[in-house]
Amino acid sequence: MWRAAAVRALRGAGAGAPRAASGAAAAQLRRRLESELEDIRGAGTWKSERIITSRQGPHLCLAGGGAGILNFCANNYLGLSSHPEVIRAAVEALEKFGAGLSSVRFICGTQSIHKDLEEKIARFHQREDAILYASCFDANAGIFEALLTPEDAVLSDELNHASIIDGIRLCKANKYRYKHMDMQDLEAKLKEAQKHRLRLVATDGAFSMDGDIAPLREICQLAQKYDALVFIDECHATGFLGPNGRGTDELLGVMDKVTIINSTLGKALGGAAGGYTTGPKSLIDLLRQRSRPYLFSNSLPPAVVGCASKALDLLMESNAIAQSMAAKTQRFRSKMTAAGFTISGKDHPICPVMLGDARLASVMAEDMLNRGIYVIGFSYPVVPKGKARIRVQISAVHSDEDIDRCVEAFTEVGRKHGALS
Ligand code: PLP
Repeated sequence: MWRAAAVRALRGAGAGAPRAASGAAAAQLRRRLESELEDIRGAGTWKSERIITSRQGPHLCLAGGGAGILNFCANNYLGLSSHPEVIRAAVEALEKFGAGLSSVRFICGTQSIHKDLEEKIARFHQREDAILYASCFDANAGIFEALLTPEDAVLSDELNHASIIDGIRLCKANKYRYKHMDMQDLEAKLKEAQKHRLRLVATDGAFSMDGDIAPLREICQLAQKYDALVFIDECHATGFLGPNGRGTDELLGVMDKVTIINSTLGKALGGAAGGYTTGPKSLIDLLRQRSRPYLFSNSLPPAVVGCASKALDLLMESNAIAQSMAAKTQRFRSKMTAAGFTISGKDHPICPVMLGDARLASVMAEDMLNRGIYVIGFSYPVVPKGKARIRVQISAVHSDEDIDRCVEAFTEVGRKHGALS
């Protein structure tokens, strides 16, 4: 009986036109939302989504846009998102451990693969322990509130990622914002924060809009001088920065000076999803007890765990992929500079082609796509006014020919639109 009713209900829900809520409140809400959406369109900041009909990779198919599009805008830094061994590991984990846990970790959601992956992450970063989250956004949302009290202080780079900003908003610590990568300002803020019990300096390891790398050596020196802890978000560093891809702390020789690392499994490490915190065991133990996005959200699906675990195996076996990404980055940066473009940042696969004017960035990105090259223009409010750019992201699986084609297309399009003299 109930089965037939459920089937009828599902059929009813699945078929026919969407049902619009009626009533004055619903109508008022609709008017308000439509006006807000109109404002976004009017401000020229509407974000539309291109539909990909193939796997993630250096060559894509876009819905309605043909095949063989060269892709330069994913965070697939090591090309592992479609690596055959990563995909096989996901399939094996799916078959052995099922689709998902239907539970949070502490109730009925911890499988041996979750524990194995946490151990592997800690080993990769040479830390005591690690804890998994559904995303790094969640890891950032959970850590500050669990760790810091009104007696403490957090000092945050003004250009930190939105998830760090939101995580800090959620905590009751005293908040200090220092100017982007400005060590004088950080020192001044650290002096001011001496009155608090504990000080935590929080910074992105690499900043995703500018491709610049935090001056971690100097940050760690200041932290030592003013008795502070250092937290880094390594989403745009894990897997490829440093001789063995351990990240910004390895690159700058301060692995023993950074206390806490948050990072993602959704970029270089297979690109599926997931995030983590790694650091001292007592901190990880506390997060398992107190961190709200960990306590109150479903466990990572086994296939996702399988992808990340295999990605880490590949990285720990050899640093060849990370090194090849560095060589490709160098090729793109030097050829673009020689062509007359200004590329922000240094030695990072995020290569922002600085254009200044928002319209120029947008029409050039469109023209690049007409030439089969997928890149994205960024303008205010994502980046400061007058600093519009096209962000190019290099991957280890781009061939030298792919990179050269991209540079040639930029040169043509840049000349056409007067971005190159
Ligand atoms: N931190 C930084 C610096 C990021 O760039 C991102 C993603 O864009 C995140 C955190 C969030 O990572 P996730 O996609 O795992 O939630």
